[in-house]
Amino acid sequence: MRIALASCLLLIAAALPTRALAANRYAIDHLEPASWWVGMKHDHVELMVHGDGIATTTPRVAYVGVRIVDVAKVANPNYLFVTVAVARDARPGEFAIEFVENGKVVATHPWRLDARAPGSAQRRGFDARDAIYLVTPDRFANGDVHNDNVAGMEGLDRGNSNGRHGGDIAGIRQHLDYIAGLGFTQLWSTPVLENNQPKFSYHGYAITDLYRVDPRFGSNADYRALSREAKARGIGLIMDVVLNHIGSGHWWMRDLPSNDWINNGGKFFQTNHRRTTLQDPHAAPQDRRTFLDGWFVKDMPDLNQRNPHLARYLIQNSLWWIEYADLSGIREDTFGYADTAFVSQWAKEILDEYPDFAMVGEEWSVNPAIVAHWQRGKTNPDGHVPHMPSMMDFPIHTTLRDVLPLAEHGPDSSWIPLYEMLANDFLYPDPGRLVVFAENHDTTRLLAHLDGDVGLWKIAMAYIATIRGTPQFYYGSEVLVRGPKDRHDGELRADMPGGWNGDAADAFTGKGLSTAQRDAQDYVRKLFEWRKRTPVVQSGRLTHFAPDGSVYVYFRHDDRHKAVMVALNKGDAAKTMALDRFGDFIKPGERAYDVLNDRDMQFGASLTLPAKSATILELR
Ligand code: CA
Repeated sequence: MRIALASCLLLIAAALPTRALAANRYAIDHLEPASWWVGMKHDHVELMVHGDGIATTTPRVAYVGVRIVDVAKVANPNYLFVTVAVARDARPGEFAIEFVENGKVVATHPWRLDARAPGSAQRRGFDARDAIYLVTPDRFANGDVHNDNVAGMEGLDRGNSNGRHGGDIAGIRQHLDYIAGLGFTQLWSTPVLENNQPKFSYHGYAITDLYRVDPRFGSNADYRALSREAKARGIGLIMDVVLNHIGSGHWWMRDLPSNDWINNGGKFFQTNHRRTTLQDPHAAPQDRRTFLDGWFVKDMPDLNQRNPHLARYLIQNSLWWIEYADLSGIREDTFGYADTAFVSQWAKEILDEYPDFAMVGEEWSVNPAIVAHWQRGKTNPDGHVPHMPSMMDFPIHTTLRDVLPLAEHGPDSSWIPLYEMLANDFLYPDPGRLVVFAENHDTTRLLAHLDGDVGLWKIAMAYIATIRGTPQFYYGSEVLVRGPKDRHDGELRADMPGGWNGDAADAFTGKGLSTAQRDAQDYVRKLFEWRKRTPVVQSGRLTHFAPDGSVYVYFRHDDRHKAVMVALNKGDAAKTMALDRFGDFIKPGERAYDVLNDRDMQFGASLTLPAKSATILELR
């Protein structure tokens, strides 16, 4: 009887429209951001309200210190853009935003004001003192098998290199001590926000909800806990932000606010990837438009940040995550592809709110003039005023990988292209703030590129740890994860050994690692632990000497007679070099600490560098 009654009620409920069941006549599907903070410089917040026919209503707020200062409508009547002003003395708390029609409240939605954490505005972004550990969260560690499959979303498929493997935020949280123990002080995770896409959702760059962590990675609260626990271990959290595009499964795509929300009216057309059209004085305007407004790929609709509501949404979204998750930096994806004036405004507004914050942009160009165009302080002929503190150093990345495998032919050292690329530092307003890397989640693994040559790989690691800038390392490299030599994203983003139950080898405990893997891991630990406690190698001046054959020597030094000598020999044979050339820095009889061999040494008239090795000497 009871069962029959319940079924009957369910039938009645199912037959009624949901709106009639609720007190609200209008259902609000989204109201974003869902909260803000008291005391932000950005004290005007534009709320995006989405619900069937909501534009016919008038919003109102009855909460001391919060008032509505603007209401904007767009082409689609299912959207309202409501700007609220938050007074400095507003009390943190939750309250309702009401939507009124014909004098009656027809919908309400909760909204919340939070108190800021102490020191929030003064947060320090990452800089050259730091070293960054990059992870692809789906591939690092599966800390919670219960989130591997979520109803309605792409499920676990570990046998498929392009599928989801189950790694998550819980897995990263479980291994923060490991990351800290390697000497890293910043954690950059590729995007963790919802990617409810039918395929390739593991990589995270097709975001379908900009305010929600993907449930297969965890929750927003889990991401915040990751940040808190990392910070307790001296590690800052860098969020990967995508301003250029969204995933085709984003809810906007089912009900676009306006025709100009997505470039090309919401229909796919391919970008030409011709990034130089932005700086090239001879570029055809049509090519420039195709570069900027074309889509990266078909399942990533290209956002039109010239729409002021979208621009406001994206800027607020970044501010929200910085404040919510207590971030120490942002890595911004596909930097040049987004509207040029917008990316500049975005960076400026973030720095207005957090003057010491750090953002690094991805401009995948081998030309330092193109990369320098975007760095704060650069005066550009076209008048573009950039605000990014940092950019990824793709020119050095590419050149380092090019020269490492080269043998010596002819009179010029094979190091010369790298030596001369570094000479282009005069183009940058602040080369010390570039992020240097030998590999990332979009490149073949360095070890694969070098055909497994661990000696050359070690030289590259020593180089990124000692050259100017902030080094960035890619997870798994320390245990010689190699992947294919031809780029295959799903395979180079291989599972970290030990991240999954039943793994034969475990990078985290050392169990089952080969001798070569242990040696590589020890090398990385030694290098970055030493870097972490050696200020002169983080931010000292850089002086390099013209390479001679297989040998490249440079010094990091300050004015107080602290100096580090780095000597790289990538030749097949040991090389003995006279030291008189370096007399400004070292003299026979002086002592130094041999960092990688953990021993003291004394300079004579010459120095012998083993084959394919880095020698790092900290002068006493
Ligand atoms: Ca999982």
